[in-house]
Amino acid sequence: MLTRVPTPDGDPGKVPADMSDVEARLARIRGTAPVREHTARTIAALTTNPGCDRRAVLDAAGIDKQKLAGYVEFPVPSGQSPFAISRGNAFEAQVKADGCAGLLRLLGERLGLPVPEVSYADLAPAGTGASLDARHARTRELLAEAAAAGPDGGVLLDHPLLRLDVGGRAAYLEPDLIAVRLRGRFHVVEIKSFAVIDGQADGRKVAAAATQAAVYVLALRGLLAELGYGPETVADEVVLICPENFANQPTAALVDVRRQLTVLTRQLSRLARIGDLIATLPADLTFDLGAAGAQPEPGCGGGEHPPRFSDDSAVPGRPVVEVVGALHATRARYAPECLDACELAYFCRDEARGQTAALGRSVHDELGGVPDVAGVLDLAAGTRVPDPDQAEAAELLRLAARLRAESLASAL
Ligand code: SF4
Repeated sequence: MLTRVPTPDGDPGKVPADMSDVEARLARIRGTAPVREHTARTIAALTTNPGCDRRAVLDAAGIDKQKLAGYVEFPVPSGQSPFAISRGNAFEAQVKADGCAGLLRLLGERLGLPVPEVSYADLAPAGTGASLDARHARTRELLAEAAAAGPDGGVLLDHPLLRLDVGGRAAYLEPDLIAVRLRGRFHVVEIKSFAVIDGQADGRKVAAAATQAAVYVLALRGLLAELGYGPETVADEVVLICPENFANQPTAALVDVRRQLTVLTRQLSRLARIGDLIATLPADLTFDLGAAGAQPEPGCGGGEHPPRFSDDSAVPGRPVVEVVGALHATRARYAPECLDACELAYFCRDEARGQTAALGRSVHDELGGVPDVAGVLDLAAGTRVPDPDQAEAAELLRLAARLRAESLASAL
């Protein structure tokens, strides 16, 4: 049976005084731009570099990082290709055809799950234009009914709408998932169009799908907690559906997302404690890009990526050098993984040029933790006296430099 847990006491609408201070400060940091709402993809991306203060501040303030990156002349290409989107939509429609009859068969045959009689509900049928609030309320209602029905009450929700608190703001999540109840627990089902070939899929894509599904697990647990049910009500194994062997036939696998849940929970609680972080920043810090209509100052961002704006909706006006200065006032922790997960990656990579951490954690560790590339080269050349804790690394670097020189000499 499901476990009921007490609902929290107190007035949820009451905002502590210090929280309103934090909100005011975040509003100043954001400036006049509208709040950028989170999606499951952006929440999942929070886990890639959880120690980065810059990202934490920008996300907590709801700043459009893509526009900011373009403004400082380091735009990133964004979005999936139209081909990938239409392929993904077609595969999803195939999996969900006939009220997900094929999916339920797959869960039984491939995963050996006892699939009960389920009721199917599409919460966003095409053309109805149901509002977000209405869809969320309907999702909550159906989940409440299913949870109260006990282990035999199967439900399959298509296009449910979940909500997650991200840094004090509610993020609506519109998954292409279905929440299905198996063995008395709700399971999140994630449908992806990358292929599984001979039982193997691209590890990075599986990891990204697992993190995204973990966001839905957290949101689903949050909704069920509001209804008085404990976290065990939602399984921490998600069902991943992908096409198999180029044939576009769906296959299913269970993916354990406990690690992703731990990282996500830690990062979300860090965002919730953002007041501690912004208290260390300059009081006048703001990423406001200024008034619409004026043109930004040219050429302050480095010029490696010439086009500044990917659309005409940027709100230029503030000198770019000031915006760059505001970015430098926040501590970043660039790593190569940022390139896949954060819109500011090119800016931060440029800023971190010459630092060994920018080459990745394993390279940084291999270089004995020496912070800058120039220091590494000096140690390797023997032109710099190592600190006591760098002695071993310095010896290895000199050896590597000697071997390299000998190899080059013999090759020539
Ligand atoms: S790209 Fe920059 S802001 Fe984004 S996570 Fe990496 S270091 Fe932080």
